[in-house]
Amino acid sequence: MTVKETCMDESDPNALTVEQALERILATADRVTGSEAAALPDALDRVLAEPVTARIDVPPARNAAMDGYALAAHAGQAGRRLRVAGVSAAGHPWDGKLAPGECIRILTGAVVPDSADAVVMQEHVTLAGEHITLAADVEAGANIRHPGEDTRAGTVILDPGRQLTPADIGLLASQGIGEVTVLRRPRVALFTTGDELVPIGQPLQPGQIHDSNRHTLRALLSRYPVDFDDLGVIADTEDAVRAALTRAGESADLILTTGGVSVGDADFVTRLLQREGEVGFWKVAMKPGRPLAFGRFGRALFLGLPGNPVSVMATFSLFVRPALLRLCGTEPAPPWTLRARLLDDLRKNPGRADFQRGILEQRDGEWVVRSTGGQGSHQLRSMSLANAYIVLSRESRGARAGEQVDVIPFQSVF
Ligand code: AMP
Ligand code: MG
Repeated sequence: MTVKETCMDESDPNALTVEQALERILATADRVTGSEAAALPDALDRVLAEPVTARIDVPPARNAAMDGYALAAHAGQAGRRLRVAGVSAAGHPWDGKLAPGECIRILTGAVVPDSADAVVMQEHVTLAGEHITLAADVEAGANIRHPGEDTRAGTVILDPGRQLTPADIGLLASQGIGEVTVLRRPRVALFTTGDELVPIGQPLQPGQIHDSNRHTLRALLSRYPVDFDDLGVIADTEDAVRAALTRAGESADLILTTGGVSVGDADFVTRLLQREGEVGFWKVAMKPGRPLAFGRFGRALFLGLPGNPVSVMATFSLFVRPALLRLCGTEPAPPWTLRARLLDDLRKNPGRADFQRGILEQRDGEWVVRSTGGQGSHQLRSMSLANAYIVLSRESRGARAGEQVDVIPFQSVF
């Protein structure tokens, strides 16, 4: 069953746009200070604190780009017959010198001897006994990889602020670098609020629901180079919320909470932040996820997400992720947006930017997107089914099947 919605304007003059809210967050979030050494096997996704300079030329020596025969190109005319004088294999260089009329068998990655300046593909020769015959003329330099062609000793190969990718890890290994200096992991304290929340493993009494947000957040956070401290479910009392905020504010760089940021009677998070921390409490003109509290408590940055599970994920992807990346020391890239043909009619009231959940796929070379169905902010399955947001602008009054719409693939925001 879906909640019936009337087609009314949802604009609120006090609400910030998504862009304004993000700008304010990024104006405040600073990268952490402090660095540590990370061994290569632990360095994936960590953020470099210092530049990395290549120590050696890679490749270190001239080598063959394919399996074939190394020879002197001036003796490489079509029809020429050459004696195979030896073999250079990867890890086993040939230490002889080519005499006129000679070549050597060479394998991919093997060192090309100084007396050769070309490698001819084995498919371009015929082999008979100890001799090859060339099928075509050979050009000087053919199929030879030169020292430093990948990286040259002394050049900066990775800049500070770089979040290390698998390719970077390989690049470092190719340099024989086994350890890098990375920024320390930001500490994130998280808790959920709500008297209705029950941990997994406990049966539900009337009026209760399982606490899903904390697990969603833990899963989301596990993809970032952060340490997190899960403070559990906090009851809707001022004392309980104060105790959790105080503990978190003593040690964390960022406090993440869900629930209690509206203006209801049990919404202590915002009130405490107003009284005992610093608060920017905002309504953001987006759906899902209108209320968002942002500020400081103790030494920590504070981001209070709404309670509804879909709103938690939406606000995480648009606000927490960039803030986290900034704390981690790397610049957040804006989400990728692509255009796709809509397969369903979508309803929407003007006033808030809508991040509807969609399933994006390619059909016959064209991007198409369809709705996951029910779009309530309590319908977490819409997130589970989706792989992209369908973005409808603040003014939009919905979209019709066949229209081109903006889509943000989840890969770029989670
Ligand atoms: P609140 O923002 O605290 O008013 O919560 C809004 C809605 O989200 C309510 O329906 C809550 O029951 C629900 N909710 C809040 N926290 C959680 C949570 N941790 N897991 C699942 N649902 C939640
Ligand atoms: Mg609540």
